[in-house]
Amino acid sequence: MAVTSSSMLLLRNFSTAGRVAQSVRATSRICFSTGELIRVLPHTHSTRFISSTRAAHNEEAAAKSAAAVADTGAPTIFDKIIAKEIPSDIVYEDENVLAFREINPQAPVHVLVIPKLRDGLTMLGNAEPRHVDVLGQLLHASKIVAEKEGILDGFRVVINNGVEACQSVYHLHLHVLGGRQLKWPPG
Ligand code: 5GP
Repeated sequence: MAVTSSSMLLLRNFSTAGRVAQSVRATSRICFSTGELIRVLPHTHSTRFISSTRAAHNEEAAAKSAAAVADTGAPTIFDKIIAKEIPSDIVYEDENVLAFREINPQAPVHVLVIPKLRDGLTMLGNAEPRHVDVLGQLLHASKIVAEKEGILDGFRVVINNGVEACQSVYHLHLHVLGGRQLKWPPG
């Protein structure tokens, strides 16, 4: 499966659709930041679910400012989260993977799943054959997160790859989203 330098990988799991994976060339930004107004549904997962078109502009701005350090291998905020130097709301953790709640959630459930050892995986576009195991572990951890969060029947896994896809943190991470009706196409 080819992944271009600025692309978004979307994995969707809907009980009715049964689709497994798609690699999508990103020509503009993305499912949750194109200006779509999101209806807030009653839920128990998160009290920080924010609905705003402003988020789209914030994410683009964050991605553009992150572009200056994009893919340099510089430490990121996620190193501090892994080291527990700054707090995070951890949902799942094992030897290789950490999953914690997104600080700016775009759905009632929005969890980031990251490898504890970055090993060059600043972005999916840098994946090498040696990363195959950890990539599988990240996907499996995403499923565990969905199960723990009670969204196994309908959730989405997103990887923003590169500036055009609004990647803002250069440590590979999977967004696991659910808890509301997600739209398709994402935008
Ligand atoms: P990206 O835009 O690179 O795909 O996703 C990076 C995500 O990391 C953003 O959605 C951003 O809100 C989130 N993020 C950035 N800093 C922190 C933080 O300190 N804690 C948490 N939980 N999430 C963060």
